[in-house]
Amino acid sequence: MRRWHHDDPVRDGEPIASQPEIDAGTANDSMSPAQPAASLPSSASVPPLPPLAPTRSAARARLAAVRPAAYARTRNALNGAVTGLSPYLTHGLLTLPEVLAEVTSRQPLDVQHKLVYELGWRAFFRHVWQHRGDGIFQSLHEGPLPDSAYARALPEDIRQGRTGVPVIDRAVATLYATGTLHNHARMWLASYVVHLRKVHWRAGADWLYAHLLDGDLASNHLSWQWVAGTGSSKPYLFNAGNVARFAPPDWHSSGTVVDTDYAALDDWARTASAIATPARGLDRVPVRSPESAGEDEGHAGSEPILLDRPSACDERMRPDAAAVAGRDVWLIHPWSLGDPPSDLPADVLLIGVHEREFHQRWPWSERRWQFVDTRMAELTSVRWWGEAETLQRALVEARSVQGWADPHLSPGMRSVGAWRPAPELFPAVDRRCDSFSQWWKRAVRGVGDAAELLRPPEDPPC
Ligand SMILES: Cc1cc2nc3c(=O)[nH]c(=O)nc-3n(C[C@H](O)[C@H](O)[C@H](O)COP(=O)(O)OP(=O)(O)OC[C@H]3O[C@@H](n4cnc5c(N)ncnc54)[C@H](O)[C@@H]3O)c2cc1C
Repeated sequence: MRRWHHDDPVRDGEPIASQPEIDAGTANDSMSPAQPAASLPSSASVPPLPPLAPTRSAARARLAAVRPAAYARTRNALNGAVTGLSPYLTHGLLTLPEVLAEVTSRQPLDVQHKLVYELGWRAFFRHVWQHRGDGIFQSLHEGPLPDSAYARALPEDIRQGRTGVPVIDRAVATLYATGTLHNHARMWLASYVVHLRKVHWRAGADWLYAHLLDGDLASNHLSWQWVAGTGSSKPYLFNAGNVARFAPPDWHSSGTVVDTDYAALDDWARTASAIATPARGLDRVPVRSPESAGEDEGHAGSEPILLDRPSACDERMRPDAAAVAGRDVWLIHPWSLGDPPSDLPADVLLIGVHEREFHQRWPWSERRWQFVDTRMAELTSVRWWGEAETLQRALVEARSVQGWADPHLSPGMRSVGAWRPAPELFPAVDRRCDSFSQWWKRAVRGVGDAAELLRPPEDPPC
């Protein structure tokens, strides 16, 4: 059976999410490339990120603040110099080529630089999605235990961030309060959910996706699989010592279930029973529907509501065929919120579209809807929400329909117009690669300076 990361023991350790400075002597030791241990940067040494607003100027401000050297040194720490670009990349306000172009315009970067490498993970997950399709929503192979050993629902104490394990409860509180979460915190959370609480990675992945501003089906679900060991050769484990190294004091979790050694954690991961959790008398939080939106808003610590449409969705968002008849249309969807291309006809009609079926399957927090819809409203006053078939029907009379392609769009929508391929940073790797290392070798073969990735591909010789 093919397993990710199986082919290259050095890269094996290069976790998706990069915890290269994992504690020495741990069960995951072989995953660690030789790198100096990072220490927690002092809060004064890392300036706060520019605000996360749904505008191009805010995205550009974050991009201008990227410091590659500090990033490589400190990115595993919760207060490290991470870029905070993922909501912009997920929603197309920035593209990977644009990020690299901006950063390398200030200083040259080797293609193996940590920052380029991490951008590669995003592209690699897209590669896996392209080749496996909906297969990424099932375990790619068996993990430390069969799928049937894991519960299918996320327990209420995790959902409410009241497990009593500070690193988990802080992570959930941060997620709900901001819609963002540091990579290391995502890994800790996922590892706890899957390996200690024995909850199936899919339940955790669906829940996390819904609350993240940067939720991306490939990066999220495949990262959960990597942590679970269903997309990697071993489970990702962490302990209280690891948290103490990379997180501020209120996250530290000594004296809790994670305060143990890696051999014990590895045993747990391979044992079917979940850790005992204290009875907490939690009220069950119902899964929210748009109709119940607002009922328990403001309840401290409660899970934010999830919606299948923008909260301001009304009659004005009904697809309207008459408005587009005979017009050239450029479609804007939640994953293409950058500026439209400059070569469109002057009288092009910009239409924002939200596919109902997608969001019924993958609802979002209100915060994310606001982020997306605010930007969409800045781009166009015509925004539609409806079933893919209704959207398609409404577009039939348009003179032309174009937009940026994206795998989140349903096949029905993809057949509607002439979708332009979205700008890619790495060359397409046609052969399916199951490990990042396989893919990376092919994607950057012959490249030294990262800026070479920005050059248009040469025409093949006649
Ligand atoms: C359980 C779990 C779930 C995740 N879910 C998502 C998700 O839904 N959407 C998402 O974009 N990322 C996801 N990631 C990857 C990673 O956590 C985020 O991309 C990163 O934390 C975003 O913060 P940043 O922009 O400051 O990242 P930086 O560290 O500054 O990295 C720069 C960019 O590189 C890319 N990148 C960095 N690390 C990764 C990675 N490990 N995998 C894929 N891309 C990466 C992102 O586009 C990121 O914006 C997940 C990771 C885990 C462990």
